[in-house]
Order: sequence, then C-alpha cells, then structure tokens
Amino acid sequence: MSEVKNLIGLSRAELAGEMVAIGEKPFRAKQLWHWIYNRGATDFAAMSNLGKPLQQKLTESYRVARPKIAREQTSTDGTRKWLLDFDDKNQAETVYIPEEDRGTVCISSQVGCTLTCQFCHTGTQLLVRNLEAAEIVGQFMAARDSYGEWPTPDDGTRLLSNIVMMGMGEPLFNYENVAKALTIIMDGEGIALSKRRITLSTAGVVPNIRRCGEELGVNLAVSLHATTDEVRDRIMPINKKYPLAELMQALRDYPTNNARRITFEYVMLKGVNDSEADARNLVRLVKGIPAKFNLIPFNKWPGSEFEVTPMKQIERFSDLLFQAGYSAPIRQTRGADILAACGQLKSDSERQRRLKEKLAAAE
Ligand code: SAH
Repeated sequence: MSEVKNLIGLSRAELAGEMVAIGEKPFRAKQLWHWIYNRGATDFAAMSNLGKPLQQKLTESYRVARPKIAREQTSTDGTRKWLLDFDDKNQAETVYIPEEDRGTVCISSQVGCTLTCQFCHTGTQLLVRNLEAAEIVGQFMAARDSYGEWPTPDDGTRLLSNIVMMGMGEPLFNYENVAKALTIIMDGEGIALSKRRITLSTAGVVPNIRRCGEELGVNLAVSLHATTDEVRDRIMPINKKYPLAELMQALRDYPTNNARRITFEYVMLKGVNDSEADARNLVRLVKGIPAKFNLIPFNKWPGSEFEVTPMKQIERFSDLLFQAGYSAPIRQTRGADILAACGQLKSDSERQRRLKEKLAAAE
C-alpha cells in the first residue's frame, strides 16, 4: 500500500482536517476540492492558485488517484466497460451506456457479492470486500477521464449525465461508503451531479432503504423479480431476511412523488415469474406506491439454471402492466458482446484470470 494518502474519497471536513494537519488554512480544502472534482486535476503542480511551496508540500504527502484501468473494451453499440485495478489488486467493473438523451455510468459497490441471487452470475462469485468511498467515486472519475469530460460541464451538456449503482455488489450492504461517495459526487462545487440523476438499485435491504431515503434522497430501484415470498425466497435468498410485506412497507415510506417513482426491476425467467397471473400479482403488490417497471430479459450465462422468456410473452407482460397504468419498458440489452450486460459483470475477467493461473501452473 502506498503511504502517500489519496485525497479522493475524503469528505469536505476530512479534507479540511488534512490541510490543518499540515499547517495550512482550512480554506485550502475548498480550492483543492475545485481542482480535484470540478477540473479533474491529478497533478498538484497544475493547481495554479495554491503556490509553489504548498504544491510541493502536497506532492510529498498526498496523491489524487483513480483506480487503474486494467482493461477497456468498447461494444459495437457504444457501451464501454472498464476493468479496474484497486491498490490491493482486487478488481471491479464499471460500464458506460450511451443513450440518445443521456449517458449512464453503472458503478460497482463491492468486489463480488453476498446475495447469491440464483439468476445472477456475479452472485456465483464470493464477496471479497466492500469498496471504499474513494474507489466508488474513482470509478466515475476514471470514466470521465476516458471521455475527457473535465471540467464539469453544465448538466444539460454532459456525456456522462447519470449514475446507476447497479454494478457488482449490493450497495445497501456497503451503505456508509456508498453514501459518502454519492455525497461527494452530488456536491455542487465539484462533480455536481443532481440526486435526480442518480439511481441506487437494491435487492431489498430494508433498514438501509429508510436511511437512503432520509439521508441521500436519490432515486430508488428495487430488484423485485418475484411476486410471492415462495418464489422470491428461492431465487433471492435475501427475501428470507426481508420478506415482501416488509419490503413493500419500506417502499411505501420512501420519499417519492409522481415525478419520482420507484423503479421495480423484474428479470423475466421462463416458467418461474413470467405468467399473466404474475403480472396481475405485481400490480396488486405495488398498489399505493408511485411505481414504474423495468422488465429485463434474462441474460444467460454458462451453467445458469434458467431459460429466457420468449419476447412475445415479455411484451404481453409489459402490456398488462401498461394497461394497469404503469410504464413498463423492456430493458434493451446493451454491451452483450463485451459481457457488460446486467448480471454478467466480472465473470469474464474472472474466467480470464483462472485461465492465466492454469497456464502459469502448466508451465
Ligand atoms: N444488488 C443490487 C445491484 C445489482 S443491479 C440489486 O440487486 O439491485 C443488477 C441488476 O441486474 C439487478 O436488478 C439484478 O437482479 C439484475 N440481474 C442480475 N443477473 C441478471 C441476469 N442474468 N439477467 C438479467 N438481469 C440480471
């Protein structure tokens, strides 16, 4: 580990504390914040209003570092995926998904995942650890570096305009670091991304859903994927801890309005959760919650026990929700050629690593 401390990931108060610790005035933190998060500077020597002696002092004790890019791949549809190396050599993936009216960065919160959802490839990998705030903010900054999007543009003109906490891991099992990272990202004098442009996706960690609503106020997406406890228990073990009734109550309490609905993600699994009765159950279940749906065709992976619901049936399912008054688009699979789609993250790099180990052992 480097002894030179990374300034990325510190809260404003912590950054001011560092300045005081090296005998500087706390207002230096405000200047640094602007250089780091608005301008994207990584070199203290470029921070022209700090003065040479301070630049020198900062260079000796600190760095401004993003995770290193181990691999970058761009799909034929424009989706870009980065495999990132952290200081301890653990890795996670970040994905950029360009759309007509926005560009979304999909960020990971953990290396691996403990949820073991049966349809998710990330879930077959053991949790290695939570990501630090610096590593979460750093993913977004590395993505912005890749598109040269510094200084922070006005909201209307951003290429990287939205964030979804939908990568590897369960963000609400790493609440403190995720909250700290998002607070940095939302800070108006830096990256300045509005909470309306950030969506956190959870499998349903009920106690932290409340905190997320009270403390962060970002958009919430919930991976529902089933309409009965029986089915949900089977495909998403977290349901045994926080069953549907509790989950739905927490969602009723979440700060929403008609313009800010909760997104229910629903992976369509053939013969498991995709019947017309399921669609009707779904409508009953979300009654009273400002809701919209996002139907996700199952992305298959080698060894998975599920099959893909035929598109006609997904469309029928979508129609039923629509007739009940809900928006229910079918999520387009993006970046499939670079394994960047939902539930596929890290699997490729894991496979490559295993292959490398095998080859090394054979030598
Ligand atoms: N742990 C959080 C964040 C992961 S988001 C959560 O559960 O919401 C990733 C989204 O992709 C989730 O909705 C997840 O259920 C979905 N997903 C996982 N595996 C998938 C697969 N094989 N095909 C389609 N969607 C999948």
